[in-house]
Amino acid sequence: MSGIKPSPASVLRRRARELRAAGRDIIELSSGNLDFPTPDHVIAAAHQAALRGETRYTDVDGTPELKQAVQAALRRDHRLDYGLDEIAITNGSTQALFNALLATLAAEDEVIIPAPYWAPYLDQVRLAGATPVVVPCAQNNGFKLRADDLRAAISARTRWVIVNNPVNPSGALYSHEDLSEIAAVLLQHPDIFVLADGLYEHITFDGAPAPTLAAIEPRLKPRTLTVSGLAKSYAMMGWRIGYAAGPAALIRAMITIQSQTTSGASSISQAAAVAALDGPQEVLAERAAILRGRRDRFVELVNGCAGLSCAPPEGTFYLLVNCAGVIGKRAPNGRAIETDRDFSTYLLEQADVVVFPGEDFGLSPYFRVSFANPSATIEEAARRVRRACETLQ
Ligand code: PMP
Repeated sequence: MSGIKPSPASVLRRRARELRAAGRDIIELSSGNLDFPTPDHVIAAAHQAALRGETRYTDVDGTPELKQAVQAALRRDHRLDYGLDEIAITNGSTQALFNALLATLAAEDEVIIPAPYWAPYLDQVRLAGATPVVVPCAQNNGFKLRADDLRAAISARTRWVIVNNPVNPSGALYSHEDLSEIAAVLLQHPDIFVLADGLYEHITFDGAPAPTLAAIEPRLKPRTLTVSGLAKSYAMMGWRIGYAAGPAALIRAMITIQSQTTSGASSISQAAAVAALDGPQEVLAERAAILRGRRDRFVELVNGCAGLSCAPPEGTFYLLVNCAGVIGKRAPNGRAIETDRDFSTYLLEQADVVVFPGEDFGLSPYFRVSFANPSATIEEAARRVRRACETLQ
């Protein structure tokens, strides 16, 4: 365990809580929690399920109703056809990813992870005893993995490539064409599996769900695990429902792990997830439109801060802000800002604003802010950040 860190998110969340308890007015621009409520009809479905007595263990791989709802959603959103033996319901998509990695990785194996990345990918790979191979994806390519860089990172030990679309933390969105180029490389390496994480797939600003590799290239489908969940699409972070769809043998192995670790997801959350997936979908577009408005304003505000810049992301509710222009400056107390972590610490201490340093996502000098906050909070946070930037010498 000495090689594994607690997730940076949990550490920051604790620090913010401490400061707030000490009376400070802290704004968390770090949060992966949407400020929208779970839709009413979803909450009602959970309540009714509990009253009906759906309070017992479910099948380890999920209730038949939820597996069918996931099957229908994959068909509706991506024209992907999976049998029920190719689908597993998990405790958040976090567990889907971990089950898959633990089920397949051995000590000498490598997993290719494009950076900037969601940090738990790395530690999950390490927990499974294998080695993450990080491939930096530069801002001048929109923070997206280039086919040539993927090709160069592949070795005889590569077991998985993780492709998150759209990307936490950059908000980058891989188009059909981007994914086709990646698929062309992978077709030349028949032993590599693909972990396609689409957790933010419905939070895109052009209306359509983000494309996913198994749908783009059917020849990859037999070795792709398509992972998603309810957390971000339906503002159901705390309900802990994720899912995976892929080859039956892999799903079986994942379920064996699940049977020995969590025994599966909550019965009540699964009933709620059925209502979310089968119910009215208008909420997705309505909320994406609200997020788009916040994004546009936030980008404008960030670009008004001395030394900071960012381009509008195409998906998620995150902005990755380039802070190269503040590196090398000094805080009023004389402390030098040498890294994005220094700058994030400065923002917390000076401006009472919590952001995540790019270092935690494997790419510097950047920091991530979340616009899963009401507009007034975003305005106030940006005002504080602008002042903190102006205070630097
Ligand atoms: N993948 C990505 C890219 C994420 O950002 C997150 C959570 N923020 C997850 C997976 C896991 O989410 P959950 O377990 O809530 O489904």
